[in-house]
Amino acid sequence: MTEPSVRAAPGNDLPPPRVRLAALDTLWFQVAGTVCNLACNHCFISCSPTNRTHEMMSLAEVEGYLVEAVELGVKEYYFTGGEPFLNPAMEAILEATLAVGPANVLTNGLLLDSERCARLRALQDASEYSLDLRVSLDGFDAASNDPIRGEGSFERVLNGVRNLLAAGLNPVLTVTEVHGVSGTEAGKAKFFDLLRGLGADKPRLKVLPVFQIGSEAERGGAYESWQKLRAGEVADDGWEHLQCSSCRMVTDRGVWVCPILVNEPEGKMGETLSDTLGSYPLEHPACWTCHVYGVSCKT
Ligand code: SF4
Ligand code: SF4
Repeated sequence: MTEPSVRAAPGNDLPPPRVRLAALDTLWFQVAGTVCNLACNHCFISCSPTNRTHEMMSLAEVEGYLVEAVELGVKEYYFTGGEPFLNPAMEAILEATLAVGPANVLTNGLLLDSERCARLRALQDASEYSLDLRVSLDGFDAASNDPIRGEGSFERVLNGVRNLLAAGLNPVLTVTEVHGVSGTEAGKAKFFDLLRGLGADKPRLKVLPVFQIGSEAERGGAYESWQKLRAGEVADDGWEHLQCSSCRMVTDRGVWVCPILVNEPEGKMGETLSDTLGSYPLEHPACWTCHVYGVSCKT
């Protein structure tokens, strides 16, 4: 990752800028809470088999928010965790969601056996809306991936991708810049080759920067004090590139501003979606990463 050029001026004590919600287009669900069958050492929300900061959401909880979301004009839905397919209600949740809009699932791919992939394909075929799967990987091979995501995870992830492709679902491979090469042209070409080798005619890839919070703060280092946004660095109406101008995140504990700050107490905005339609101060250092790298967690 190249060193960004944006630095707050020394002595700049201005308050953080605020981003307004232009429209609630995208709704995220922390549907598996913070429970995961992996414990990746770069996970910015420190998910693991034992992290119960957020619990799994029930079908009834999700359906309640879907009703409110439709009334507010939400256009698409994202599901993450933890690992979404650890939630026993996940397929029922997707069926309910696909009745009202497009659905996207961010998964580590470990629970994508051929039977589940066939059921996911059937859910997609039964809906007028799209179902998109994002599968996470952090290296071109086991030697670069497994030290981050866990021993044996590379082969298990590839198996899940193979099963999706065999079912006619073309996933988006999602990689983070832990090695600093994934987003280069050569790095992308290697991931495309990997996907083609698994049977993808039209390989799809998304590269994300690391957020230096959660487990990643211990692995790669935490933010430094200068990595903060200040009022005046960007025009007040210049924050539309940030996903918090068009999204909110629902967990079992209420509604958070975005998918990145779900483990940060200051990220919570309310209990219902209607509570969270106001503006939000960009004072967390992760907001600096979003702005400098132009991050969107959307596909
Ligand atoms: S990065 Fe994803 S797969 Fe890894 S521990 Fe976090 S939620 Fe689980
Ligand atoms: S972390 Fe990113 S998406 Fe979340 S509030 Fe900050 S700028 Fe917005």
